[in-house]
Amino acid sequence: MNLLVTGAAGFVGSAYVRTLLAVGGPDAPHVTVVDKLTYAGTRGNLQLGHPRLDFVQGDICDAGLVDKLMGEADQVVHFAAESHVDRSILGAGDFVRTNVLGTQTLLDAAVRHGVGPFVHISTDEVYGSLESGSWREDHPLQPSSPYSASKASSDLLALATHRTHGLDVRVTRCSNNYGPRQFPEKVIPLFVTNLLDGRKVPLYGDGRNVRDWLHVEDHCHGVELVRTRGRPGEVYHIGGGTELSNRELTGLLLDACGADWDRVAYVEDRKGHDLRYCLDWSKARDELGYRPRRDFSTGLADTVAWYRENRAWWEPLKRRAGAA
Ligand code: NAD
Repeated sequence: MNLLVTGAAGFVGSAYVRTLLAVGGPDAPHVTVVDKLTYAGTRGNLQLGHPRLDFVQGDICDAGLVDKLMGEADQVVHFAAESHVDRSILGAGDFVRTNVLGTQTLLDAAVRHGVGPFVHISTDEVYGSLESGSWREDHPLQPSSPYSASKASSDLLALATHRTHGLDVRVTRCSNNYGPRQFPEKVIPLFVTNLLDGRKVPLYGDGRNVRDWLHVEDHCHGVELVRTRGRPGEVYHIGGGTELSNRELTGLLLDACGADWDRVAYVEDRKGHDLRYCLDWSKARDELGYRPRRDFSTGLADTVAWYRENRAWWEPLKRRAGAA
Protein backbone atom coordinates (compact mmCIF):
# COMPACT_ATOMS: atom_id res chain seq x y z
CA MET A 1 0.00 0.00 0.00
CA ASN A 2 1.41 3.39 -1.03
CA LEU A 3 0.31 6.26 1.20
CA LEU A 4 0.74 9.77 -0.17
CA VAL A 5 1.37 12.23 2.67
CA THR A 6 1.43 15.94 1.85
CA GLY A 7 3.30 18.54 3.92
CA ALA A 8 5.23 15.98 5.96
CA ALA A 9 8.40 18.07 6.16
CA GLY A 10 6.46 20.25 8.60
CA PHE A 11 5.63 19.77 12.27
CA VAL A 12 2.60 17.45 12.42
CA GLY A 13 3.08 15.61 9.12
CA SER A 14 6.66 14.65 9.97
CA ALA A 15 5.56 13.30 13.36
CA TYR A 16 2.84 11.27 11.61
CA VAL A 17 5.29 9.78 9.11
CA ARG A 18 7.72 8.91 11.92
CA THR A 19 4.96 6.90 13.64
CA LEU A 20 4.20 5.07 10.36
CA LEU A 21 7.84 4.20 9.71
CA ALA A 22 8.39 3.07 13.32
CA VAL A 23 6.10 0.08 12.85
CA GLY A 24 7.08 -2.62 10.34
CA GLY A 25 5.28 -5.78 9.25
CA PRO A 26 3.32 -6.88 6.19
CA ASP A 27 0.66 -4.16 6.55
CA ALA A 28 3.15 -1.30 7.01
CA PRO A 29 2.54 1.23 4.20
CA HIS A 30 5.12 2.62 1.83
CA VAL A 31 5.05 6.40 2.33
CA THR A 32 5.50 9.02 -0.40
CA VAL A 33 5.88 12.52 0.98
CA VAL A 34 5.28 15.56 -1.21
CA ASP A 35 6.32 18.87 0.31
CA LYS A 36 7.25 22.21 -1.24
CA LEU A 37 9.74 22.96 1.55
CA THR A 38 8.42 26.43 2.29
CA TYR A 39 10.01 28.31 5.23
CA ALA A 40 8.06 25.86 7.48
CA GLY A 41 9.29 22.62 5.91
CA THR A 42 12.63 21.05 6.77
CA ARG A 43 14.35 18.08 5.13
CA GLY A 44 15.85 17.22 8.52
CA ASN A 45 12.34 16.45 9.79
CA LEU A 46 12.18 13.47 7.43
CA GLN A 47 13.92 10.11 7.86
CA LEU A 48 15.44 10.33 4.37
CA GLY A 49 16.99 7.03 3.31
CA HIS A 50 14.37 4.92 5.11
CA PRO A 51 13.48 2.01 2.78
CA ARG A 52 9.74 2.71 3.06
CA LEU A 53 9.99 6.46 2.42
CA ASP A 54 10.16 8.44 -0.83
CA PHE A 55 10.43 12.20 -0.72
CA VAL A 56 9.37 14.45 -3.59
CA GLN A 57 9.96 18.17 -3.32
CA GLY A 58 6.98 19.77 -5.02
CA ASP A 59 3.93 21.97 -4.81
CA ILE A 60 0.42 20.58 -4.27
CA CYS A 61 -0.83 23.25 -6.69
CA ASP A 62 1.25 21.64 -9.49
CA ALA A 63 -1.51 19.66 -11.22
CA GLY A 64 0.88 17.61 -13.37
CA LEU A 65 3.00 16.48 -10.43
CA VAL A 66 -0.06 15.81 -8.27
CA ASP A 67 -1.66 13.74 -11.03
CA LYS A 68 1.49 11.60 -11.33
CA LEU A 69 1.80 11.07 -7.56
CA MET A 70 -1.90 10.32 -7.17
CA GLY A 71 -1.68 7.76 -9.98
CA GLU A 72 0.85 5.86 -7.85
CA ALA A 73 -1.03 6.27 -4.54
CA ASP A 74 -3.62 4.09 -2.79
CA GLN A 75 -4.53 6.52 0.02
CA VAL A 76 -3.82 10.14 1.01
CA VAL A 77 -3.26 12.01 4.26
CA HIS A 78 -3.20 15.74 3.50
CA PHE A 79 -1.33 17.98 5.96
CA ALA A 80 0.22 20.54 3.58
CA ALA A 81 -0.92 24.05 4.37
CA GLU A 82 0.12 27.56 5.16
CA SER A 83 -0.53 27.33 8.88
CA HIS A 84 0.36 30.51 10.77
CA VAL A 85 -2.54 32.86 11.60
CA ASP A 86 -0.33 35.94 12.03
CA ARG A 87 1.17 35.49 8.57
CA SER A 88 -2.34 35.18 7.08
CA ILE A 89 -3.27 38.54 8.62
CA LEU A 90 -0.26 40.14 6.93
CA GLY A 91 -1.11 38.57 3.55
CA ALA A 92 -3.64 35.88 2.66
CA GLY A 93 -2.67 35.08 -0.95
CA ASP A 94 -0.46 32.07 -0.18
CA PHE A 95 -3.12 30.72 2.20
CA VAL A 96 -5.82 30.74 -0.47
CA ARG A 97 -3.42 29.31 -3.05
CA THR A 98 -2.11 26.37 -1.01
CA ASN A 99 -4.98 25.67 1.37
CA VAL A 100 -7.84 26.10 -1.10
CA LEU A 101 -6.44 25.62 -4.63
CA GLY A 102 -3.84 23.07 -3.52
CA THR A 103 -6.48 20.99 -1.73
CA GLN A 104 -8.77 21.14 -4.78
CA THR A 105 -5.89 20.04 -7.02
CA LEU A 106 -5.36 16.98 -4.78
CA LEU A 107 -9.09 16.21 -4.65
CA ASP A 108 -9.46 16.42 -8.45
CA ALA A 109 -6.57 14.00 -8.94
CA ALA A 110 -7.89 11.64 -6.24
CA VAL A 111 -11.27 11.51 -8.02
CA ARG A 112 -9.59 10.83 -11.38
CA HIS A 113 -7.54 7.96 -9.95
CA GLY A 114 -10.12 6.68 -7.44
CA VAL A 115 -7.78 7.13 -4.45
CA GLY A 116 -9.18 6.80 -0.94
CA PRO A 117 -9.45 7.15 1.97
CA PHE A 118 -8.38 10.79 1.53
CA VAL A 119 -7.86 12.14 5.06
CA HIS A 120 -8.01 15.93 5.09
CA ILE A 121 -6.39 17.49 8.17
CA SER A 122 -8.15 20.59 9.48
CA THR A 123 -8.47 22.67 12.62
CA ASP A 124 -10.83 23.73 15.40
CA GLU A 125 -10.28 27.32 14.23
CA VAL A 126 -12.85 26.85 11.43
CA TYR A 127 -15.65 27.27 14.02
CA GLY A 128 -14.59 30.76 15.16
CA SER A 129 -14.75 31.41 18.91
CA LEU A 130 -16.99 30.31 21.79
CA GLU A 131 -17.37 31.56 25.37
CA SER A 132 -18.43 28.28 26.96
CA GLY A 133 -19.31 24.69 26.07
CA SER A 134 -17.78 22.84 23.14
CA TRP A 135 -18.35 22.36 19.42
CA ARG A 136 -19.72 19.21 17.85
CA GLU A 137 -18.79 18.25 14.29
CA ASP A 138 -22.00 19.69 12.78
CA HIS A 139 -21.55 23.18 14.25
CA PRO A 140 -21.66 25.97 11.62
CA LEU A 141 -18.28 27.18 10.37
CA GLN A 142 -17.61 30.82 11.35
CA PRO A 143 -13.87 31.35 10.80
CA SER A 144 -12.30 34.61 11.97
CA SER A 145 -8.90 34.78 10.27
CA PRO A 146 -7.79 34.38 6.65
CA TYR A 147 -6.01 31.18 7.78
CA SER A 148 -9.11 29.62 9.32
CA ALA A 149 -11.31 30.83 6.43
CA SER A 150 -8.98 29.10 3.96
CA LYS A 151 -9.07 25.90 6.05
CA ALA A 152 -12.88 26.05 6.30
CA SER A 153 -13.04 26.48 2.52
CA SER A 154 -10.86 23.42 1.99
CA ASP A 155 -12.99 21.38 4.43
CA LEU A 156 -16.12 22.25 2.45
CA LEU A 157 -14.46 21.38 -0.86
CA ALA A 158 -13.28 18.05 0.56
CA LEU A 159 -16.74 17.16 1.91
CA ALA A 160 -18.39 18.31 -1.34
CA THR A 161 -16.10 15.96 -3.27
CA HIS A 162 -17.45 13.13 -1.17
CA ARG A 163 -21.06 14.19 -1.81
CA THR A 164 -20.60 14.84 -5.53
CA HIS A 165 -18.16 12.16 -6.61
CA GLY A 166 -18.46 9.60 -3.80
CA LEU A 167 -14.73 9.93 -2.98
CA ASP A 168 -13.88 8.43 0.43
CA VAL A 169 -12.99 11.73 2.13
CA ARG A 170 -12.58 11.95 5.93
CA VAL A 171 -11.95 15.27 7.68
CA THR A 172 -10.21 15.72 11.03
CA ARG A 173 -10.34 18.91 13.12
CA CYS A 174 -7.94 19.13 16.03
CA SER A 175 -6.96 21.50 18.80
CA ASN A 176 -3.62 23.33 19.20
CA ASN A 177 -0.72 20.88 18.84
CA TYR A 178 2.52 21.04 20.77
CA GLY A 179 5.67 18.91 20.76
CA PRO A 180 9.13 18.70 19.18
CA ARG A 181 9.92 20.19 15.74
CA GLN A 182 7.22 22.87 15.73
CA PHE A 183 8.38 25.92 13.82
CA PRO A 184 9.59 28.53 16.34
CA GLU A 185 6.98 31.12 15.34
CA LYS A 186 4.14 29.27 17.13
CA VAL A 187 3.58 30.22 20.76
CA ILE A 188 5.16 27.30 22.66
CA PRO A 189 8.41 26.96 20.65
CA LEU A 190 8.64 30.77 20.24
CA PHE A 191 8.37 31.34 24.00
CA VAL A 192 10.67 28.44 24.93
CA THR A 193 13.41 29.38 22.46
CA ASN A 194 13.22 33.08 23.43
CA LEU A 195 13.45 32.16 27.12
CA LEU A 196 16.38 29.79 26.48
CA ASP A 197 18.12 32.72 24.74
CA GLY A 198 17.47 35.07 27.68
CA ARG A 199 15.00 37.13 25.65
CA LYS A 200 11.47 38.41 26.33
CA VAL A 201 8.28 36.67 25.20
CA PRO A 202 5.40 38.59 23.52
CA LEU A 203 2.04 37.93 25.21
CA TYR A 204 -0.99 39.08 23.19
CA GLY A 205 -3.43 41.48 24.90
CA ASP A 206 -4.32 40.47 28.45
CA GLY A 207 -3.48 36.78 27.85
CA ARG A 208 -7.01 35.56 28.61
CA ASN A 209 -7.48 33.71 25.28
CA VAL A 210 -8.04 30.02 25.95
CA ARG A 211 -6.72 27.11 23.86
CA ASP A 212 -7.01 23.34 24.25
CA TRP A 213 -3.58 21.66 24.01
CA LEU A 214 -2.98 18.38 22.20
CA HIS A 215 0.36 16.55 22.07
CA VAL A 216 1.37 16.00 18.44
CA GLU A 217 1.71 12.22 19.06
CA ASP A 218 -1.91 12.08 20.24
CA HIS A 219 -2.96 14.00 17.13
CA CYS A 220 -1.09 11.50 14.92
CA HIS A 221 -2.73 8.61 16.77
CA GLY A 222 -6.15 10.18 16.11
CA VAL A 223 -5.38 10.71 12.42
CA GLU A 224 -4.32 7.07 12.09
CA LEU A 225 -7.56 5.92 13.73
CA VAL A 226 -9.56 8.02 11.27
CA ARG A 227 -7.57 6.66 8.31
CA THR A 228 -7.95 3.04 9.34
CA ARG A 229 -11.33 2.97 11.13
CA GLY A 230 -13.20 6.15 10.15
CA ARG A 231 -16.21 6.40 7.88
CA PRO A 232 -16.34 8.11 4.45
CA GLY A 233 -17.77 11.64 4.42
CA GLU A 234 -17.43 12.09 8.19
CA VAL A 235 -15.75 14.79 10.27
CA TYR A 236 -13.91 13.75 13.46
CA HIS A 237 -12.66 15.99 16.27
CA ILE A 238 -9.30 15.21 17.84
CA GLY A 239 -9.03 17.09 21.13
CA GLY A 240 -6.39 17.28 23.82
CA GLY A 241 -8.38 17.85 27.01
CA THR A 242 -6.07 20.51 28.52
CA GLU A 243 -7.62 23.99 28.40
CA LEU A 244 -5.33 26.84 29.38
CA SER A 245 -5.43 30.61 29.00
CA ASN A 246 -2.36 32.03 27.26
CA ARG A 247 -1.48 33.62 30.60
CA GLU A 248 -1.58 30.24 32.36
CA LEU A 249 0.49 28.68 29.57
CA THR A 250 3.02 31.52 29.84
CA GLY A 251 3.35 30.88 33.60
CA LEU A 252 4.08 27.19 32.97
CA LEU A 253 6.67 27.98 30.31
CA LEU A 254 8.38 30.58 32.53
CA ASP A 255 8.57 27.98 35.33
CA ALA A 256 9.89 25.30 32.96
CA CYS A 257 12.65 27.64 31.77
CA GLY A 258 13.45 29.08 35.23
CA ALA A 259 12.36 32.61 34.25
CA ASP A 260 10.17 35.30 35.89
CA TRP A 261 7.26 37.45 34.73
CA ASP A 262 9.67 40.34 34.03
CA ARG A 263 10.51 38.44 30.84
CA VAL A 264 6.96 38.97 29.51
CA ALA A 265 6.31 41.83 27.07
CA TYR A 266 2.59 42.62 26.72
CA VAL A 267 1.93 43.35 23.04
CA GLU A 268 -1.09 44.63 21.13
CA ASP A 269 -3.68 41.89 20.68
CA ARG A 270 -3.87 39.91 17.43
CA LYS A 271 -6.55 41.33 15.07
CA GLY A 272 -9.76 39.27 15.29
CA HIS A 273 -8.22 37.14 18.07
CA ASP A 274 -10.59 34.27 18.92
CA LEU A 275 -11.27 34.09 22.66
CA ARG A 276 -11.67 30.36 23.09
CA TYR A 277 -11.72 27.09 21.14
CA CYS A 278 -13.09 23.85 22.54
CA LEU A 279 -13.89 20.62 20.69
CA ASP A 280 -16.29 17.90 21.80
CA TRP A 281 -14.35 14.79 20.69
CA SER A 282 -16.82 12.18 21.98
CA LYS A 283 -17.54 10.99 18.40
CA ALA A 284 -13.89 9.95 17.86
CA ARG A 285 -13.87 8.41 21.35
CA ASP A 286 -17.07 6.40 20.92
CA GLU A 287 -16.60 5.38 17.26
CA LEU A 288 -12.85 4.98 16.98
CA GLY A 289 -11.65 4.47 20.56
CA TYR A 290 -9.67 7.74 20.48
CA ARG A 291 -8.42 9.37 23.66
CA PRO A 292 -5.39 11.60 24.25
CA ARG A 293 -2.69 9.54 25.98
CA ARG A 294 -0.03 12.14 26.80
CA ASP A 295 -0.32 13.89 30.17
CA PHE A 296 0.13 17.64 29.56
CA SER A 297 2.68 18.40 32.27
CA THR A 298 5.08 15.61 31.22
CA GLY A 299 4.40 16.33 27.53
CA LEU A 300 5.29 19.98 28.08
CA ALA A 301 8.40 19.15 30.13
CA ASP A 302 9.58 16.75 27.39
CA THR A 303 8.93 19.40 24.75
CA VAL A 304 10.90 22.07 26.63
CA ALA A 305 13.74 19.55 27.09
CA TRP A 306 13.70 18.80 23.34
CA TYR A 307 14.15 22.48 22.44
CA ARG A 308 16.87 22.80 25.11
CA GLU A 309 18.76 19.88 23.56
CA ASN A 310 18.17 20.68 19.89
CA ARG A 311 19.40 24.23 19.28
CA ALA A 312 20.95 23.03 16.02
CA TRP A 313 17.41 22.36 14.74
CA TRP A 314 15.74 25.65 15.65
CA GLU A 315 18.48 28.31 15.57
CA PRO A 316 18.82 28.29 11.73
CA LEU A 317 15.02 28.35 11.35
CA LYS A 318 14.71 31.38 13.59
CA ARG A 319 17.48 33.15 11.72
CA ARG A 320 15.87 32.26 8.38
CA ALA A 321 12.47 33.55 9.48
CA GLY A 322 14.05 36.78 10.69
CA ALA A 323 12.81 36.04 14.18
CA ALA A 324 16.22 35.88 15.85
P1 NAD B 1 3.60 23.42 9.27
O1 NAD B 1 3.49 24.84 8.85
O2 NAD B 1 4.59 23.03 10.31
O3 NAD B 1 3.90 22.49 7.98
C1 NAD B 1 3.27 22.69 6.76
C2 NAD B 1 4.05 21.93 5.70
O4 NAD B 1 3.37 22.09 4.45
C3 NAD B 1 5.48 22.45 5.50
O5 NAD B 1 6.39 21.38 5.46
C4 NAD B 1 5.41 23.16 4.15
O6 NAD B 1 6.66 23.14 3.45
C5 NAD B 1 4.33 22.39 3.44
N1 NAD B 1 3.68 23.16 2.38
C6 NAD B 1 3.17 24.41 2.48
N2 NAD B 1 2.68 24.79 1.27
C7 NAD B 1 2.85 23.75 0.43
C8 NAD B 1 2.51 23.52 -0.93
N3 NAD B 1 1.92 24.47 -1.68
N4 NAD B 1 2.82 22.33 -1.49
C9 NAD B 1 3.43 21.35 -0.75
N5 NAD B 1 3.78 21.52 0.54
C10 NAD B 1 3.48 22.70 1.13
O7 NAD B 1 2.13 23.00 9.70
P2 NAD B 1 1.66 21.95 10.83
O8 NAD B 1 1.60 22.66 12.12
O9 NAD B 1 2.46 20.73 10.70
O10 NAD B 1 0.17 21.68 10.36
C11 NAD B 1 -0.14 20.58 9.50
C12 NAD B 1 -1.63 20.58 9.23
O11 NAD B 1 -2.33 20.47 10.46
C13 NAD B 1 -2.14 21.85 8.54
O12 NAD B 1 -3.10 21.49 7.59
C14 NAD B 1 -2.76 22.64 9.68
O13 NAD B 1 -3.81 23.47 9.21
C15 NAD B 1 -3.27 21.52 10.57
N6 NAD B 1 -3.38 21.89 11.99
C16 NAD B 1 -2.25 22.16 12.72
C17 NAD B 1 -2.39 22.51 14.06
C18 NAD B 1 -1.20 22.83 14.93
O14 NAD B 1 -1.39 23.16 16.10
N7 NAD B 1 0.03 22.70 14.43
C19 NAD B 1 -3.65 22.59 14.64
C20 NAD B 1 -4.77 22.32 13.86
C21 NAD B 1 -4.61 21.94 12.55
